[in-house]
Amino acid sequence: MSFNPSLTARLRIGFVVLFALLLIVSLLGVGRLFQIRVHYENDITRYFQLELESERLRSAFILEQAAARPATAHQQPSQVELNQAAASFSDAASRARDLTDDDTVLVAKLNQLVASETAWRKKVAEPLIHEQVPPAPVERRLTSAVTNSGDALATDTRAARDTARDNARTDTRNTTILVAAGLGGALLAALILFSGLINSMRAPLGRLVEGARRLAGGDLRTRVEVGGPVEIATLGRAFNEMANSLERDARERDRIEQMKDDFVLTVSHELRTPVTVVKGFAEMLTAQRKSLNSRQFEAAEVIAESAGQLQKMINDLLDLARSDAGKLRIEAEPTPVRSLAQRIGRQMRPNFEGKAQSFTVSVEKDLPDIDADPGRIGQVLANLLTNANKYAPEGAQVRLAATKVGDEIEFAVSDNGPGLDGDQLEHVFDRFWRADSTETQSVGGTGLGLAIAKSLVELHGGRITANSSPGEGATFRFVLPIAKDGRPNREAPTRRTKAGAAG
Ligand code: ADP
Repeated sequence: MSFNPSLTARLRIGFVVLFALLLIVSLLGVGRLFQIRVHYENDITRYFQLELESERLRSAFILEQAAARPATAHQQPSQVELNQAAASFSDAASRARDLTDDDTVLVAKLNQLVASETAWRKKVAEPLIHEQVPPAPVERRLTSAVTNSGDALATDTRAARDTARDNARTDTRNTTILVAAGLGGALLAALILFSGLINSMRAPLGRLVEGARRLAGGDLRTRVEVGGPVEIATLGRAFNEMANSLERDARERDRIEQMKDDFVLTVSHELRTPVTVVKGFAEMLTAQRKSLNSRQFEAAEVIAESAGQLQKMINDLLDLARSDAGKLRIEAEPTPVRSLAQRIGRQMRPNFEGKAQSFTVSVEKDLPDIDADPGRIGQVLANLLTNANKYAPEGAQVRLAATKVGDEIEFAVSDNGPGLDGDQLEHVFDRFWRADSTETQSVGGTGLGLAIAKSLVELHGGRITANSSPGEGATFRFVLPIAKDGRPNREAPTRRTKAGAAG
């Protein structure tokens, strides 16, 4: 099993390592500085004591000189005093030796002093005690040898003290630099550690963000590679489980949708034949009015009308089910716009006349042919005009216009009826949606006409939109592509025509 500590454990390890590094560097640094300080203080004290002992050596030598050659003529040289002074010289020399701390220069200087003093005592002091005056140059040479050695020892001691101070300064500076470098190194190590930690999370988190984005974009097969610290790995597993469940649900939903579509398709298809038969027989009966009494005739009319409505609803349902199943086919061909608009205008004209509505068809001059299935686009226009006729009140004005907009042909059906507000416009192309208004509710309908119009327009590669302000009527526009070899249609020049009037 690979070592994969949790986020908290990683942070804890990081902090412990950082803390330990900082502690070690600080302790070593402080310890070293303390040691330098103690050393320095010891050295300084020792050198001061050594200087003191040098002075004592000098004093002892002066006493020896005084014992061997008294200052006044009536005093005699004293062996006892010479011995006492020589003993204090020897004591001072032995203490000084201890204080040299085996410093070779100082030891050599001390040895030289002791040797000079011994030589002086032997060759100058002892003869003087025994009243044998040594030759003056010998006495001068030996005396100044002692004095010079004493001076040299004192000078070297001072020099050694200065060196000790300089060394302490240099050591302190070097140690401070080392500690600073150590602390910097520890911080750098911490930085590397934490950036490693962040990097170990960044890649799996990036994969999760990317996966979530793809999932939100609809790619339900998206899965992420599980990795990183335990928490992020758990998140990755949870993400994959969620994606699995979403994919399962989507498959199930698709299956149910498919079943529903198949059901609607089959039922509408099966209902079509009997309804057509009922409608046919009812129309046959109404055609034989003479052999029916008035109640029978009325009943036959109601049956024919209801069967007609039922037939339209079944056809609409069938179209939608086919559209959902991808089975709604159009047979697009270069279609002249003017003749299409006029054909539909002619068919719809009785409806407008029945409500005393004014109806105009306006087609721009020299429009090229559209690439469309004339039957299906006729159905779209009929749906829009039927709505305008149904929802606009008596005496209203309805207009069907066709113009060229850019590379497309735009059809617009407008009325000055009740119109729709913003909320209603958002749903106007939804299936089975009908406005709550009294205008809508007082008129029959299924809420399928605009949904079918939208499907058909989109199948042609076009777009349909609705514009309206409540109380000021509504305009439904759709655009269709121009046929590839869509030559301008040289028909009659543009003018307003009454629907159905000869172009
Ligand atoms: P139907 O007309 O069978 O109810 P449609 O899909 O054709 O179904 O229309 C949906 C709804 O849109 C209608 O019920 C009506 O409320 C509203 N509508 C459509 N056309 C118009 C229009 N020209 N003026 C006002 N409302 C309309």
